[in-house]
This record gives sequence, structure tokens and C-alpha cells, in this order.
Amino acid sequence: MLTKTTMPHAVIVGAGLGGLAAAIRLGARGYRVTVLDRLAVPGGRATVFKQDGFTFDAGPTIITAPFVLEELWQFAGRNFYDDVKLQALDPFYVIRFDDGSTFTCRADVKAMRDEVARISPDDVAGYDNFMRESEAIYKIGFEQLGHVPFPSIGSMAAIVPDLLKLKAWQSVHSHVASHVRHPKLRMALSFHPLFVGGNPFRATSVYSMIAYLERQFGVHCAIGGTGAIVQAMVKLIKSQGGDVICNADVAEITTDNGRATGVRMASGKLIKSEIVVSNACAAHTYTKLIAGGAQKRWTKRKMARARHSMSLFVWYFGTNMKFESVPHHTILMGPRYRGLIDDIFENKILADDMSLYLHRPTATDASLAPAGCDSFYVLSPVPNQDSNIDWMQMAETYRQRIAKRLDETIMSGFEKHVVTQRVMTPLNFEHDLLSYKGAAFGLEPVLTQSAWFRPHNKSEEFENLFLVGASTHPGAGVPGVISTARVLDLVVPPAEAFASAHA
Ligand SMILES: Cc1cc2nc3c(=O)[nH]c(=O)nc-3n(C[C@H](O)[C@H](O)[C@H](O)COP(=O)(O)OP(=O)(O)OC[C@H]3O[C@@H](n4cnc5c(N)ncnc54)[C@H](O)[C@@H]3O)c2cc1C
Repeated sequence: MLTKTTMPHAVIVGAGLGGLAAAIRLGARGYRVTVLDRLAVPGGRATVFKQDGFTFDAGPTIITAPFVLEELWQFAGRNFYDDVKLQALDPFYVIRFDDGSTFTCRADVKAMRDEVARISPDDVAGYDNFMRESEAIYKIGFEQLGHVPFPSIGSMAAIVPDLLKLKAWQSVHSHVASHVRHPKLRMALSFHPLFVGGNPFRATSVYSMIAYLERQFGVHCAIGGTGAIVQAMVKLIKSQGGDVICNADVAEITTDNGRATGVRMASGKLIKSEIVVSNACAAHTYTKLIAGGAQKRWTKRKMARARHSMSLFVWYFGTNMKFESVPHHTILMGPRYRGLIDDIFENKILADDMSLYLHRPTATDASLAPAGCDSFYVLSPVPNQDSNIDWMQMAETYRQRIAKRLDETIMSGFEKHVVTQRVMTPLNFEHDLLSYKGAAFGLEPVLTQSAWFRPHNKSEEFENLFLVGASTHPGAGVPGVISTARVLDLVVPPAEAFASAHA
């Protein structure tokens, strides 16, 4: 029986959702857990900030696959719904095309088929086929492969038949286009990889599963904001006896003879541990936190050449009135689809046109703004820092362009009602969250950077080092990063076994 002094110590670098989920799992498995984050509050991209009476979720707002969170709580012997209230949304979101027409996504199968028929009656049969394939992809891609490690090339080879069956070499857009012809439907059914940093024209068609995931398990929001999930995770870790320490900047993951031995803080303090889990961006982990190590696979050169996801420009604002006609989630498509995506991902230029995601959580949860007010954020995918955009110069100009676009489309005259605001640019991703190249979602989700090809959850470079978070398997997004921590169950030894092996 382990005691507080004999329990193996796990240090977790980063209190993002992946790091917090890893802490809960390791705490439940008998490790003494310390989570360290350089920022002032936990949550990473899922942090929350309050300003002038408004509450803003900085990052994730769309909660899909809630069973992933339920399973995490169950693993720790708790019930997720005792700690967090989720609200199912209907409609899920409204897509507004550049000509002002809309496509409303909902859970109800008939409503969705009617919506498809309204745009293109000839595409209903193709849509049905697409949804059937989306389900088949989910059953393999999520249920079977989403939470298992890929420790060897052999384990990757073993899934090749599945990948062939799923036509995983196709992009999401090609997959959708093989089923429906209308350009608006092709857009509406293929844009989802952008939610996890993927280019719809390059992301593996495995991400077509998102359509089924949404329909089957719904689209939810957390009451009180996604920050309520972060707070509940921190509370759970503390109830297990773990620590979550903020303003704790890790300068180095210390190693000895090929083994991780703990961390050295920016203050110089050393913290020893039996295992280290890095929730920092994997590229940052391998190129900066253990930069002195002789990495074989994840060298600086390899990371520099890898494909990193796009970045984001996010404008948070509160208004002194309510905009009741604006739904909880709106996708505002710009005039170009492929051209804009190419400018963001391939040409790395800031285009004049834009597609936006507008979030109005107060449509569902009035507690996020003062009475009679609305809390918003609007997000624009932009190139990562491989571009030469000077965001110090550009931020205000770009914010104004976004404001103009909102004004011209669904929020006429809104700007005079803005009473509080803040922006987040790729510079924040790069310098605050320490994301390599300011990528908002880590390594881009393409087939050649998936499963075995992604940085492994059990480091292939150092013993006792583990990685979780968006740049590891299975990848970005709330269900994705929570699942990266689930993979740890299969690669981190139980605390008792670890302690006796190292006694
Ligand atoms: C604006 C935005 C909107 C999004 N919307 C959605 C959505 O609606 N639905 C969805 O499912 N997903 C969404 N996502 C994606 C999702 O939020 C992320 O994939 C996920 O939160 C990333 O979690 P992570 O575990 O990788 O950790 P991160 O959030 O990246 O956290 C890593 C943490 O590590 C810390 N850290 C790094 N280096 C160090 C160091 N040296 N020392 C100490 N600490 C360190 C950082 O401070 C950070 O807190 C969105 C992302 C963004 C940015």
C-alpha cells in the first residue's frame, strides 16, 4: 500500500484540458500529482476571463462527445453531472453563406434532410450516404483508434486495412464532394476540420466523423461557460490530493541517461519526479524544454518542417444591449472557400475576405453578461506565424475589418453598443501559450501526422516522459485532448508497479 511519501510523483507541465485530464487519471491511479502552468489561471486555450462584468471563454465553446468527459469523471469515481451542467443546443449552429442564405444544423434527422432538400433536392440521397459513412468512420476512427497508443510502426501497419476501408487518404472535402454536388452543401458538410486546426482540403476524411458525432451525441455548452469544466477539473484534482500551481513557468524537463527526472523552473528551482507529462505544445516540448537532449525523431529540423495548424484572430466583446436575432453559434462564410483556405494554410497571407465564427453564449446562458447585455466572441482563422504578418501593426486594422463584416451581415449598427473588448492574435498563441509558430491547434491533422506519425503519448525519445494535448494522438479539440490523457492508461504503469520497480 502506497503512502503519501511512497507514492510516485507525476509532474504535469501545463494545465490545459489535456494536462488536467492527465492529472485526474494519474491521481486516480495512485500518483502524487503536481500540475504546473506558466499562466495566471488554469485552462490553457480553455481559459476564461472576466472583464467589466462580462465572462468570456477564451477558446472552446462547442462541446461534442460529452461521454468523453463522463468517462473521465467515472474513472475518478465521480459523476460529471454532479460538477458541471451541460446544455444541449438546438439548433447546433447556423451557417450563413455570403449571399445571405442559411443552412441550419440540427440534431433531428428529418430536419437536416429537409434542410439539405431545401438547398438541393437531388443531394438528399447523397447526404444520407455521407451520414452512413460518417457513422462507420466514427465507429472505427473514434471508438477503436481514438484512445489507443501507436507505439510502433507495426501498430500503424495493423490499422492500414481500416484506413483503406475508411478511404482515409481522401480529404474531408473530397469525401463530401463524392456524395453531394451543391457547393453550399459541400461547404456546410466539410468545414468541420477547421474546428481542430485542419484544412478541409487536406485533413484526412477520418474527420468526416464529426458530422455523425454531432448528430448522435449533440452539440452542448457548459452553463457558466467552458471555464466551468476547467474549474471542476481543478477541484477534482485537488480532492484527489493533487496540486495545480499557476504562475509556474517550466524552463526545462530535466533528463538523466535518457530518462526524464523532473523539471527545472524558470526561477531555477528543481522539482524531482518519477514521471513527467508534458501538456505543452509537443514541438515546444521537444525543441525548447528538452532542447539539450539528443532527440532522434523529433529534431528541431523535423519540427520546423512539419505542418502546423493555422492560427486564429479572436475578438471578444460585450455589448450594452441584446442582439436576440443572433444565434448561439453562427458560421459566416465568406465569398471564397478553397481560395481563402489556401491563403490561410498554404500561401500564408492575410486575405481581404474572411470567414468567421460568431459566438453569442448569452443566447443560452444569461449569467455570462450583466442584465440586458450580450457577451460575444468572433473568431477568424488566419495564417500561423510562418507568415510575415506584423500583428502588432495589424491587429486593430483587422479587428475593424471584422467589425465591418459583422455590421454588413448580421449585426447592423452593433459597434456603438460595444462596452468592453479584447483581442487575441497569433502573437498570444506564440508567446503566452508557447505554441510553436503560433499554431492555434498544434500539428495539423493530416494523415501523415496522425496516429504513429504524431508525437507519441509515451515519448519515443525519453523514458518516463509522456505527452498529452493537441499535438499528440489523437489530436486537438476538447474530445481529442481529453482522449490523449486516456491513452496514458495504456502506457503509464500503475503507481504500485512503478513504485516497486523503482524501489
Ligand atoms: C479560440 C479557440 C476556440 C476553440 N474552440 C473549440 C471548440 O469550440 N470545441 C472544441 O472541441 N475545441 C475547440 N478548440 C480547441 C481546443 O480548445 C484545444 O484543442 C484544447 O483546449 C487544447 O488543449 P491542450 O490540452 O492541448 O492544452 P492547451 O490549452 O494548449 O494548454 C497547454 C498549457 O501548457 C502551458 N504551458 C506551455 N508551456 C509551458 C511551460 N514551459 N511551463 C508551464 N506551462 C506551460 C500553457 O500555458 C497552457 O496553459 C478551440 C481552440 C481555440 C484556440
